[in-house]
Amino acid sequence: MRSFAARLLDWYDRFSREARDLPWRDKQDSWGIWVSEIMLQQTRAEVVREAFPRFMSLYPDPSSWAEVDDDELLRAWSGLGYYRRARLLRKAAKQVQKKHGGELPRDPQALGELAGIGQYTRGAIASIAFGLPEPAIDGNVERVFARFFSISAEIKKSSTQRRLKELVLEKMDPGRPGDFNQALMDLGARVCKPRDPDCAACPLNADCRAREEGSQDKLPLMPARRKSIPVSAAAVLVPRGRGGVLAARVPSGEINEGQLELPGPGILTGHEPGSALEDALAARYGCKMRVGGLLTRIKHSITHHRITLSLYEAALDSSPGGAMEAVDPMDPELPWSTPSRKALRQL
Ligand code: SF4
Repeated sequence: MRSFAARLLDWYDRFSREARDLPWRDKQDSWGIWVSEIMLQQTRAEVVREAFPRFMSLYPDPSSWAEVDDDELLRAWSGLGYYRRARLLRKAAKQVQKKHGGELPRDPQALGELAGIGQYTRGAIASIAFGLPEPAIDGNVERVFARFFSISAEIKKSSTQRRLKELVLEKMDPGRPGDFNQALMDLGARVCKPRDPDCAACPLNADCRAREEGSQDKLPLMPARRKSIPVSAAAVLVPRGRGGVLAARVPSGEINEGQLELPGPGILTGHEPGSALEDALAARYGCKMRVGGLLTRIKHSITHHRITLSLYEAALDSSPGGAMEAVDPMDPELPWSTPSRKALRQL
């Protein structure tokens, strides 16, 4: 039988490489590969497909991203969510400028020392951009290997992760490490899917242990899920000027830091209807508001919180103070937090 790597790469060359049509796949430069890997961490490939070419035309190298201020950062990352990634990418771009003359280092250890680059991203950049035999183990690769080798230990345990790393290195084609890693990810995404894996179409089916045992649905063994916490949040819509509304910056240290939000007591702060909401608004913004009826309600999840955001109409009884500004809610460039954007869209 042909080797694991030969069968996998053959499948990748014949069926996957072109079928996925991903703009970052043509990129040979380390910056483009780095940016795409960071975007893909928590955002769907379809969204990244749209955002990536525009981002790269505006910021073609780490130095151009290192220079952006907070407002520009929020605008440029708008639609991708999880803005912390964009800030870490800017921090790392500054490190690259200062310590490595503006070029991403080839050494995997130096790569891993940059802000926001964990084990997986380090392996992806080292193998895809620099052709180094480094594993890049994401959820797709975990699933393929757990099934192929019938690994029944909990997949996220450090001992299991160490074993996975050894197995990936053992199976890797040292001549094409970047393609090998991408092929594994593609196989997990397209064939060895979490549910109903298409074993008949899999290039590894001849010696896959889970297939032989019929245990595909049981593997990989995931850690117990954290229970999600329901949160009732509130915000207010305060008309200001012609078609404008009041908006506030999310304070530093809070989720969605630096973005714009409709005034409210804070997205993870549970709220009681009635005067308690007026008191909370007064405490947060130092001004008095009269809260009226409910306008709309939206649902949004952040990490393990399930948020129901109620949006009320409100009027200002004093000056807005320095914490809020009047903005045009139709301006597509404004860096709204996702819950506020959803609520405005629904209106
Ligand atoms: S044969 Fe099935 S379970 Fe095994 S790696 Fe392929 S798709 Fe996954």
